[in-house]
Amino acid sequence: MEVPLACPRCHTVVNPDDYFCANCGEKLKKPQFSLSHWKVITIYLVSFLLPPSGLYFGLKYLRQNDEKLKKVGKLAIVLTGVSLAITIIMTVLSIRLASEIIKSTTQDYLFNF
Ligand SMILES: [Zn+2]
Repeated sequence: MEVPLACPRCHTVVNPDDYFCANCGEKLKKPQFSLSHWKVITIYLVSFLLPPSGLYFGLKYLRQNDEKLKKVGKLAIVLTGVSLAITIIMTVLSIRLASEIIKSTTQDYLFNF
């Protein structure tokens, strides 16, 4: 959406970054979609606990024209990556542990027999 450079109501020249006309108070553009702290925390938690859904938020917020939202998006993707890495490491470790338990159990069984 193109930002008007003059107020649509009183035609005063306005700053492109202003949300309202300084002269008459006319709303100049839709307030940028913002996130509450709770929503940000929820996004981070969801990214961390339910890895693939973090990518959805990450890509959604990375497309916004707002540095703060882009940061949220980037962090959501980073958290998704960290969470996936932890999941993979835990899986590998538990498979190793399981195979070692199986190995030692088998050895005990063979030695005691
Ligand atoms: Zn105005």
